Formats: sequence, structure tokens, C-alpha cells
Amino acid sequence: MPGVRNRLNDTPVIGAKKVLLAAPRGYCAGVDRAVVAVEKALERYGAPVYVRKQIVHNIHVVATLEKAGAIFVDEVDEVPHGSHVVFSAHGVSPAVVQGAADRQLQAIDATCPLVTKVHREAVRFARDDFEILLIGHEGHEEVEGTAGEAPEHTTLVGSPEEADTIQVRNPDKVVWLSQTTLSVDETMETVRRLRARFPNLQDPPSDDICYATQNRQVAIKKVAKDSDLVIVVGSANSSNSVRLVEVALEYGAKAAYRVDYAHEVKQEWLDGVNTVGVTSGASVPEVLVQELLDDLAGAGYGDIETVQTAEEDLIFSLPKELRQGPTGNTDARAIGGRTRP
Ligand code: SF4
Repeated sequence: MPGVRNRLNDTPVIGAKKVLLAAPRGYCAGVDRAVVAVEKALERYGAPVYVRKQIVHNIHVVATLEKAGAIFVDEVDEVPHGSHVVFSAHGVSPAVVQGAADRQLQAIDATCPLVTKVHREAVRFARDDFEILLIGHEGHEEVEGTAGEAPEHTTLVGSPEEADTIQVRNPDKVVWLSQTTLSVDETMETVRRLRARFPNLQDPPSDDICYATQNRQVAIKKVAKDSDLVIVVGSANSSNSVRLVEVALEYGAKAAYRVDYAHEVKQEWLDGVNTVGVTSGASVPEVLVQELLDDLAGAGYGDIETVQTAEEDLIFSLPKELRQGPTGNTDARAIGGRTRP
């Protein structure tokens, strides 16, 4: 929908209120697959189905699945022997897989295939005796899972500043890998500083920061430069959502906030604001964005212009444990995750 225009001379109306809606936004293929995996497991095995950690980092999604019969736990030793447990999209270390096997749990691995790719890289570089400089946030589940593939070979680099001080065993045998949901710009700055110290630093075979993270950052950069205010829908523990707020501020938004729900938007944020940029993290269902758009329309921001910087059509097939129907036939819904409206 175009911006508000003067009906007499068809020029943009200065000061008209509008929303710039970033696209792509919201659910990525890995999140969609993980959420469908829990739904499918509930359908097939009945409640309860246990899920280790939040299946994806979004409180609305977790609450919805809880209502449907999922029980979220921190560790597999909280799951009754022999029960079904789903591993979250962020991935798990081999120690967690072993812990589940020790309890005879029926594990369903909903790790995003793009996280699994980074795990495989870690295993391969460790086998070749590289020291892995893993760029990521300490304590994040994905980082714990990846580092857990090769703990003896992995050093965490949490920021560009840390790149200036970390010590390595052999500066000629180092490779960097990263968490999938980081700021692209900040990660490149960290790599630049690492390479200044270790010129023989190897790059990963392909980007570790995933397509969804990158696409959402590119879109919000374009939106931010024309926005007085950016609102990111996403949860506080969602790395890619938090990065979207930072990127929006870096790229020109006068203010940027993250909310889980539309009702968290404060009236004063809109004071003097003509253009509101809107986006959502990769774990956010579109219904939450729609609620925000409805509220903004009620506040006079009913004119919506979509700013599309990429098209996404990636779909991942469901975890192998769920691909076969109960009769042994391939389940029609199990061919892939689905992109939800
Ligand atoms: S954000 Fe990227 S790595 Fe994470 S689940 Fe989505 S596609 Fe996979």
C-alpha cells in the first residue's frame, strides 16, 4: 500500500502517519519445523510430550504449546524414563543426547539443520586439530550445544573487544565459527580484529549466520533509516530479535523497542512519531505482528507500506523420527515444515 498522498497533486503528505513493515520478518524454516515437530509429536504420542528448553525463544509459542500438552524442562534428567522428549531448535551437545539415551528417552531432534551444519563444522575442525574461535553469546543454548561438540578445542569469543585479548595455543591453526543469530556487522568486526591478530585465521566453509537472521537484518536496515520509531516483536531471550533492535538503532531509527505483545507498546513512544517501522524475530508468529498493526491502526497508523528486501521459500523436512506415519507410510504433513501466514 503506498504512503498517504495529496489527492490534488499526488505528492506525499508530509507528516502523515504510516507504518513501514519489514519483509522478510517472523518465522524462519527452522522455527516452523521445530514448532510443527512438537505439534506432531503431541498428535502422534498424546500429551504430555517433554521438550528440553524452550522449543524456540518465544513466550507466546511456548505458552500455546504448553496449553496443548507440552512440558518444558531444563534438562533431560527431569523427563520420566522412557518418555518422548523433543530437543529444541537451538541444538544440543553430545552429552545431552547421551543423557537422554541413558534414560531410555524417545528423543526427537528438532535442531535446526542450519545449526546442525555448524555442529558438523566444529566436529571436523576439531578432528583436524584446529582451535575453534566460536563467536557467540555465553550461556546461549546454541553456543552450549556447538561448543559441546568439541569442548577441548573451542574458545568462546563474546564480542569484538574480546577478540583483542583471547589467547590461543597455535595462532596458525585457528578457525572461526559463529552462532547463527548474531549481528552480521558486529560479527564481521570481531573477525576483522581476530584476523589482525591471527593472519592465518580460517573462515568457515559457508556463512554460519543463517539466511533468516541476515534477511531480517537487511530488511530492518532499510526500514530503520526512514523510521522515527522501530518496534520489534520478539522475546527478550531471542537473540535474533534483540539484534534487530540494535541494528535498527545503528541504521538510523530514532528509537527502537522490542515487545512480546502489542499491549506493551507505551503511548509515549508514539509522541511526535510519523513513521513506525515494524518487524519481528525469526521465532515470532505473524498473529502477534497483526495485533500490533491493528493497535497501530487504532492510533492513526493505518497506512502500511511493506518494505520487501528478499523472498523466502525455504522449507525443512520434519525430524526423521516424525517423517513416517504411524502405519509406516510417509506422512503427508511430514514432507516439510510449513510457512505460516
Ligand atoms: S534463526 Fe536460522 S538457525 Fe535459527 S532456527 Fe531459524 S533458520 Fe535455523
